[in-house]
Amino acid sequence: MKDPQPNEAVYTVGLDPKRPRHLQVEVLWQVQGTETRFRLPQWRPGRYEQSLFVRNLVALTAQNQDGEPLHLHKTQASEWVVQHPGSTQLRLKYRYFANQPDAGACYADPDWMYVNPVHCLMYREDTMDQPCRLHIQTETLSNSVLPIQVAIALHGNRIDGYTARNYHELVDSPWMASANLQSLDWTSEGVSFVLWMHGVPEPDSAMKEQIIRQWQAMAQTQIQTLGRFPENEFHFLLVGLPYAFYHGVEHRRCTVLALGPSQEIWNDLYRELLGVASHELFHTWNIKSFRPQGMETYRYDGWMYSELGYVYEGFTTYYGDLFLVRSGCLLPDEYLEEVNAYLLRHSENYGRYNHGLLESSIDTWVDGYSQTQSAPHRRVSIYAEGMLQALHLDLVIRLSTMNDAKPSSLDDLVRYLWNRYEHNPSGPGYTQDTLIHWLQEHVEAPPHYKNWEDYFRIHYIQPNSIDELLRNILPKFGCRLVTVSNEDRIKQLFGLQMNWNQAEPKVEHAVPGSPAGLAGLGPGDRWLSWEIQTDPNHQDPLIPNHQDPLIPNPLIDSESLRKNLGTKDILRIHWMTPLGQKRHGILQPHPSHRYYNQHKIELEPQAGTHEVNARNRWLGVG
Ligand SMILES: [Zn+2]
Repeated sequence: MKDPQPNEAVYTVGLDPKRPRHLQVEVLWQVQGTETRFRLPQWRPGRYEQSLFVRNLVALTAQNQDGEPLHLHKTQASEWVVQHPGSTQLRLKYRYFANQPDAGACYADPDWMYVNPVHCLMYREDTMDQPCRLHIQTETLSNSVLPIQVAIALHGNRIDGYTARNYHELVDSPWMASANLQSLDWTSEGVSFVLWMHGVPEPDSAMKEQIIRQWQAMAQTQIQTLGRFPENEFHFLLVGLPYAFYHGVEHRRCTVLALGPSQEIWNDLYRELLGVASHELFHTWNIKSFRPQGMETYRYDGWMYSELGYVYEGFTTYYGDLFLVRSGCLLPDEYLEEVNAYLLRHSENYGRYNHGLLESSIDTWVDGYSQTQSAPHRRVSIYAEGMLQALHLDLVIRLSTMNDAKPSSLDDLVRYLWNRYEHNPSGPGYTQDTLIHWLQEHVEAPPHYKNWEDYFRIHYIQPNSIDELLRNILPKFGCRLVTVSNEDRIKQLFGLQMNWNQAEPKVEHAVPGSPAGLAGLGPGDRWLSWEIQTDPNHQDPLIPNHQDPLIPNPLIDSESLRKNLGTKDILRIHWMTPLGQKRHGILQPHPSHRYYNQHKIELEPQAGTHEVNARNRWLGVG
């Protein structure tokens, strides 16, 4: 181990041998004066929500250079002040409960130590720009006959440690250490890539060849589109989990991808893996290299709002899949299946009538990433809705400039953002006006909009349901938007989302103003019994005495109810609220309005040559 350099913060992380799933962390700082204030981050870049990592912190102590204990005083949830008059060194020791095996957190096990350091490494506001050294203690990992390997994007080695220019780079560099890592490597456009794998079956030789060929092509297409790569190497850290799972987190020189069940990674889940890998790689430019105003330099102590999640997540979600078809990893109809998954999320979320993308971007900090904690149908997703808006914007730019000597696309706008704002975090970030000004200069505003400001007001500021706008523009690109009724008649006719996986079907939520909403069915209400009345005007209804408590009709089980309910049928339900009150009501379909319609984009088989050419240019095929 090297002696610390002046002003260098030295971090040492290993497993706690006495406490399963705990890391042992030491931080060494050179100090002056009488006291030092330090903190643990309260969010991690890539997940725009408040996170109290301090919940995992155990037994924090402080010592000076002679090993004498120093007095610690906690001042905020994640902030402490330590008194150290006359000391030159401050050594913190603590344990961190590492029990969250996903793509963004930490997991401590003798087989596999996996650490996203932003969760567990303390920082000082006054020394964040100073160099850091990281020692990873691998002695407590399982003493397998195989050598321990460390997958990390920082430069260095296990003896001297790994170095980072500053705290930002340190905590942007997750790692995993294990005797059971596999790896594949290749170069694309002169950049070295490594795919590290843990917990996944070894791909056979044909699969290895396919992975290298496709990931190489995907990275090459991205680099060629953007012009160059911000780094000279990049690491994919793939974590296989035994259960269904999907998660990816971006970093500047690496990404962590967590997927499961791991047995399916090289077959059923492979397309998902390609998709998340492509998405996270594109973040190397979009958010890790150019950032919106207000996020130029990360602060870790609290909320970092931005209205522009539709650029850093929406554009990225759009390009993640688009690069797969452009690089030949997906066929055009396979690509449209990916787009259609976002259209499904769009039509399932009535929040599109409440808040636009700008407000929804701020509100990731309010709702977090869980749909269950906040009001149902409250806002839209910067990922799904941002992706569909990016698709529309790309097509609009392409259509407006189709006959120009040099047609433009969203690629040109992204390249502009990258070239103009790459010097982040030192310079100011882009704003929505940056996008609007570029478009005003290069692209005529599309018909039906006064100007580009009007376009952004309608598409990004106001609530906006994108499906009809896509339906209008897709035929110009040899595609069509097809809308079909939801097969689940309870959703389609009553606007009601149920959880049927229980003896008593439970309401998840009702679309505001739908027949279910008007009948008073709310989240958590459990259906006790139900009956169908086939015709509201019929003189001899199935249930002659409406006063009688209803008896469940065994012939109308919930599955046939969802499949076979007619558009003129009336459903009578008895239910119990979460507080145990019994209620009853009648659900009657609206004469014409249907809910949860499903949209799909398809290739138009009758498309003309002009439209097919436009589609091929957009998808980079043909
Ligand atoms: Zn993302």
